[in-house]
Amino acid sequence: MLLSRSQSDFSLSLSLRRSIVLFVASHRSLRYTSIMTLHLKNFAERYRVTNGKNFKLKDFDPGDTWKCKSKEAAHDLLEHSLERLSEMQEKLYAQDEWSLLLIFQAMDAAGKDSTIKHVMSGVNPQGCEVTSFKAPTSAELDHGYLWRCHKVMPERGRIGIFNRSYYEEVLVVRVHRELLDKEKIPPPLVTKNIWRERLEDIAALERYAGRNGTVIRKFFLNVSPAEQKKRFLARLDQPEKNWKFSAADLGEREHWSEYMNAYQDLIQHTATDSAPWFVVPADHKWFTRLVVASVVETLESLKLEYPKVNAAQKRELTAARTTLLRTK
Ligand code: ATP
Ligand code: MG
Repeated sequence: MLLSRSQSDFSLSLSLRRSIVLFVASHRSLRYTSIMTLHLKNFAERYRVTNGKNFKLKDFDPGDTWKCKSKEAAHDLLEHSLERLSEMQEKLYAQDEWSLLLIFQAMDAAGKDSTIKHVMSGVNPQGCEVTSFKAPTSAELDHGYLWRCHKVMPERGRIGIFNRSYYEEVLVVRVHRELLDKEKIPPPLVTKNIWRERLEDIAALERYAGRNGTVIRKFFLNVSPAEQKKRFLARLDQPEKNWKFSAADLGEREHWSEYMNAYQDLIQHTATDSAPWFVVPADHKWFTRLVVASVVETLESLKLEYPKVNAAQKRELTAARTTLLRTK
């Protein structure tokens, strides 16, 4: 068959386009495979702490990006992780047995909010609840410090995200002792052991939750003071970021080493197999997101599945189908 010039150009460009698409697709999947086999299963392990006995914060570099050289190299991997996370959430919801609690702690401007936003972007909002914990209200101060968090632990089938958490009670309250006075704890109970006792109680709460089907993963977004300074300056210099700046956050920089000691101590005492800490490098936001997404994805080990229908339920479904077909 003779083709007119424009037709042949068109078919040529079509086949060319098809080859390009095929080439890009195979190239992409190659990239997936190489980055994934190299990194994915090791991401989580690299930053995971399950036994805090010898944990030292100085062994973790906030600027680390491991073998990922650039934001671009990480892009496909992050997308892939987000897709898998979305599938996992659907099964978690359908199975209605496990729940997942993700806890985020960090110094200011480490990127908690944006990491939560990105990592959960593909997840059905109906199956997920984010709770931010600020300075406690007077009603909250009338209860033990675990109360406000325990009330909002995720129910079965759901993902709960804590943006800050009961860990503030061994961080900001430890660094600023005057906050403890506001908690109205009977004085004989406030001894020099109070921080150790709090860490024990937190670990006990997490053990209890774990034994009841809540899988806990805890993230410390580890930003360096130099990168924090850069981000604060951006908040001052860029009008659209001005709203994020708080002079109080600046004051906290003076207590940096006290905070780091408190973080080290809490990780040493609350890192367990069932509720591990991940010390996530946070000087590069794209890398932070990648590590968090990879950790969440490793929950595949839960073997989540859609509930199976038994023979009787199958018969019911067939009957329902017949009835439905009979209707207009
Ligand atoms: P973030 O700082 O988490 O991005 P934000 O700036 O929107 O959030 P803030 O008003 O800064 O919100 O509220 C968080 C503040 O609340 C932090 O300074 C934190 O230390 C403090 N906070 C959280 N929990 C407690 C607690 N239990 N006791 C005292 N202060 C707490
Ligand atoms: Mg703040």
